Amino acid sequence: MDEQWRVGIGYDIHRLVPNRALILAGIELASDVGLSGHSDGDVVLHAVTDALLGAAAQPDIGELFPDTDPAYEGIASAELLVRALKRVRDAGYGPCNVDVIVHAERPKLSPYKASMASSIAEILGLPVTAVSVKAKTAEGLGSIGAGEAMACTASVLIVKQ
Ligand code: MG
Repeated sequence: MDEQWRVGIGYDIHRLVPNRALILAGIELASDVGLSGHSDGDVVLHAVTDALLGAAAQPDIGELFPDTDPAYEGIASAELLVRALKRVRDAGYGPCNVDVIVHAERPKLSPYKASMASSIAEILGLPVTAVSVKAKTAEGLGSIGAGEAMACTASVLIVKQ
């Protein structure tokens, strides 16, 4: 790879279930439901991880950290993002900025957007001004609108180091 700049996109969706902590972007939110998953179910960090890996044309999160591997059961998704970051750095690139859309009907995410952005920035070693977190409801439509799932879309720009 010899491009100065490369961009990646990531997407993920997880089912909402009772009796699970709701972890988004590495922080725990007050909620009576949480995201199911082999790891901590952090749909935001999974989408960011895939966007980062995709920017450097690395294998995707499912290939690198298969959910059939007991080593990743209950693992903090922040740890997966740190490992992905190392791969991208080894490929000679570093993250520049991150843009995220969380698709969720509830809980209301606006009180958490700033802390979610800080958390992503901290994991990636970026200034908080380089990370944007937006939240969209699904206007009651589909599985997200029914509160059965949350999804996340992310974009990451990387720059040659
Ligand atoms: Mg996932």
